[in-house]
Amino acid sequence: MSNDHILCPSARCEEGAILLGAVHDDGLVRLLDTRIEITAEHVEQANQKGKPETYLRFANQCVKSGCKQWKNNRCGVIDEVRETLSAKELSTTPQKCAIRESCRWFTQEGLDACRLCPLVLTE
Ligand code: SF4
Repeated sequence: MSNDHILCPSARCEEGAILLGAVHDDGLVRLLDTRIEITAEHVEQANQKGKPETYLRFANQCVKSGCKQWKNNRCGVIDEVRETLSAKELSTTPQKCAIRESCRWFTQEGLDACRLCPLVLTE
């Protein structure tokens, strides 16, 4: 996988993004194991229930230095999550995920990122 095609797993709800998962009642994100591309209609529907990034997760092209989270040649989001969460949270089993081979956080942190990922909400 070329580094130009790495995906950000905490992207905005917009046409062309990939639906990554949804927050469940326990507050954790359940990830999808197949890729669903977001259409303009999906965006409209998702916005009717509130801000989509508060209850869904999306993936889209990682824009690296075009993003304010890009620090020291890496994504700073997963580093911050790692610092604030405990080893207990790191012990959860990684879920199946449709974007693993092209995920920015996975390329940086491997399966440790996938253990923390369901705890992350974009908003
Ligand atoms: S961190 Fe892991 S579980 Fe989360 S989107 Fe990336 S590959 Fe999937």
